[in-house]
Amino acid sequence: MRFVHDTLPQRVRFASGEAATQLAEEIEDLGTGRLMVIAAAPERPLANRVADGLPVAVWHHEVAMHVPRKVARAACQVAHSHAVDALVSVGGGSTTGLAKAVALETGLPIVAVPTTYAGSEATHVWGMTEDSRKQTGTDPRVLPRTVIYDAALTLSLPVAMSMASGLNALAHCIDAMWAPRADPINAALAAEAIRTLSAGLPLVKADPTGLGGREQALYGAYLSAVSFASAGSGLHHKICHVLGGMFDLPHAQTHAVVLPHVLAANGPYAPEAEQRIAAAFGSPTADQGLRALRQHLDAPVALRDYGMPEDGIAPAAQSVLAQAPPANPAPLDIHHLTSLIRAAWEGDLP
Ligand code: NAD
Repeated sequence: MRFVHDTLPQRVRFASGEAATQLAEEIEDLGTGRLMVIAAAPERPLANRVADGLPVAVWHHEVAMHVPRKVARAACQVAHSHAVDALVSVGGGSTTGLAKAVALETGLPIVAVPTTYAGSEATHVWGMTEDSRKQTGTDPRVLPRTVIYDAALTLSLPVAMSMASGLNALAHCIDAMWAPRADPINAALAAEAIRTLSAGLPLVKADPTGLGGREQALYGAYLSAVSFASAGSGLHHKICHVLGGMFDLPHAQTHAVVLPHVLAANGPYAPEAEQRIAAAFGSPTADQGLRALRQHLDAPVALRDYGMPEDGIAPAAQSVLAQAPPANPAPLDIHHLTSLIRAAWEGDLP
């Protein structure tokens, strides 16, 4: 065994029904007195529940998916003009993403309170979009100082969105198995994440208001994001990154649709990863495990259902080819990528 592994410094507080008290303790610990609470307008009630009573200098609700640069600039101005000394994000990946964009510019610490399974809170990856191009990067300043997981905050997440978001988390851990910095530590986290998500998501589907499944899903989402942050972006993430930026597609659903196609492409060329994924699913093959779970969850199947135009397939394939990881297990050329993206567009499952 020979590898180099970085572990990101972050505190995790996990306590269902306790986000408000956990956050209050954390803010006291940080010693900050002028908070900017970032929450998309629909999550305002959740943010009030969690942050009422704290020293909030400004509440900010202008959030948009994929963090458009102008939305990020506006949020930075708000942070400056209110002289805030810490950021609290309450919401899904779009909200965490905006807090990260502000932290990138200002260096302010973030306390993240996630309400979906996107996992952005556990990574040092930021993303911003301008002119249909999504730019991403890594920076230690954007890693939230602390994450507060409270499964009760996810009870209102609609079932279809919960399933798509959970499959987004599953994509982090499956792609981590062959990503550029895959190593035994992030592979172990990824395998545990697959096990936890494949047990938890069916429970959420069966009983969306039950805390048990929600906790499993949230814990699995955290593990998968840690494995992704450590292993880096594999082919799956490169494809979704291009598609999300070019066509403004919904993030979680895009991941849910693309995942089986990437697994089918890479699995035969990465037998060890394939076996670990299969074992984590408790299934004879990785493909079978994912197929059964997706069927059970009524997973999204076609990118065309989410507004991707057919004439976008060719430029998307070109753009993915330019960014695909050089050491991707399956050899890639423009024909492979075009047919993979076309199959995902049509909903033609492998
Ligand atoms: P999102 O944050 O846009 O949320 C999706 C929808 O769910 C929104 O309509 C939101 O209002 C709603 N919602 C959120 N929480 C809710 C709750 N508890 N109850 C009811 N409704 C709720 O989408 P997402 O899928 O969570 O995040 C996607 C974004 O996150 C993308 O921009 C993606 O690039 C980013 N992301 C970044 C990383 C990273 O490491 N940087 C990782 C994953 C995702």
